[in-house]
Order: sequence, then structure tokens, then C-alpha cells
Amino acid sequence: MNNTRNRFVHINQRIEHAFNQSGRSATDSPVTLLAVSKRHSLEKIHALYQLGQRDFGESYLQEALTKISSSDHEEIIWHFIGPIQSNKTRDIAQNFHWVHSVDRLKIARRLSAQSTERLQPLNICLQINISREIQKSGFSSSDIFTVMDEIIKLPNLAIRGLMAIPKPSDNIVEQKQAFMQLRQLKQKLNQEFQLNMDTLSMGMSNDLEAAIAEGATIIRVGTALFGPREY
Ligand SMILES: *Cc1c(COP(=O)(O)O)cnc(C)c1O
Repeated sequence: MNNTRNRFVHINQRIEHAFNQSGRSATDSPVTLLAVSKRHSLEKIHALYQLGQRDFGESYLQEALTKISSSDHEEIIWHFIGPIQSNKTRDIAQNFHWVHSVDRLKIARRLSAQSTERLQPLNICLQINISREIQKSGFSSSDIFTVMDEIIKLPNLAIRGLMAIPKPSDNIVEQKQAFMQLRQLKQKLNQEFQLNMDTLSMGMSNDLEAAIAEGATIIRVGTALFGPREY
């Protein structure tokens, strides 16, 4: 518990410091800390909740559904950030507030069709394969322009922005490069399709400073907040 508190305080200091260094102003979009609780216990989620944390991210649907149904914290905002199988979209649409990992048109269509009973639209981010890695999912920076017209037409979805998991690097210049590309891509898409996307979901434990410098509005932090994953 003490460990969790210390890590939480420390991460918030890193965020504040990076924000001040970045030249972003207090009137710009703030940075939301998404606590990535995959493979960590409900007890740890509870401890962070008590400290004021509200946004939690999960990658594995079954594990997430168990946690969501056993948690009695109604104020938690649940984000799905993992790979999506098309036969799992209904459970995702019905249990989460946000989905960061929409990586195919088919998935967007299904999420929209299965969100008809939501009171509020499902917030989505489109995942971009920004470092063009063969094994990684996500739209390419050019393909996204060809599917956007279709995605925009889907009811029940709020297209909030873009998400990426760049190739890991220890070099801050390289880290920033990838995040800058995602920021510029969002700008271009907003212009070309007259959208109002306000979200850049980028930055994790090791590169959150670079992400904040390049305009991240949601950083997804697991290890630096919870320690090594438990299972
Ligand atoms: C696990 C995961 C994270 C958290 O990574 P850490 O390095 O533990 O901070 C962030 N984003 C996604 C998509 C993840 O799967």
C-alpha cells in the first residue's frame, strides 16, 4: 500500500514536471493518467482508487470482466487497451467507457452496432502502427485516410483520437519522433475530415516524458505505478 502510494505520488510528479517542461499551458488539454492494471489484483486497483485514481486500463477481456463485475466503485472509468477479437466486441461495448485499440474497420463497425443500448457513445481511439512494425496491429498512417469516411458515419461512437505503441527505444529523440508523427497525423485527420479529435493516447512507463512533450493527453502507465505484473 505504501509502495503504491509512493509510486502514485512519483508518477504524478513526473507528469507535472514533463508538462511544465513541455511549454504546454494550463489552458491546453491536461494529461490524464490511465492506470494500466492488467495482471494486477483488484486490491491494488482499490488502493489506487482510494488515492483518487479513476481511470483504469485493461488488456485481457476475461480478466477485465471479472474485475469490473467485482468492483463496487461506480466512478471508475474503464478503458480497454488490448488486442480485440471480433467475437468479443459485444462484451467490450457493454462494459467499457473507452476503447483505445480499434485497429480495423470491421471492429469499429461491430462496436458501433453493439453500442445501441449505451446512454452515451462509446469513446474510441484508432490505433496507428506508427513505427510500421510488421507484427504490430493498427492502421498504417496512410490506410487510416481511406477508412475514415466509413468510421465517421458510424453512430454510437465518439471518435476521440489516436493511440500508438511505438517501437521501444531508450533514446528520447527517437521516442519523441514517433509521438510527433502521431500528433501530426491527428492534426491532418482533423483538418481533412473536419473532426474534433482531442485525444492522443501515447506514452507508457518508459517514455511518458517524451509523449507529454509531444502532446499526449492520456498516458498509459502500468509497471511504474504497480511494479512488475503479478501474473
Ligand atoms: C501493458 C500496456 C501498457 C503499460 O505498459 P508499462 O510499460 O507497464 O507502463 C500501456 N499500453 C498498452 C497498450 C499496454 O498493453
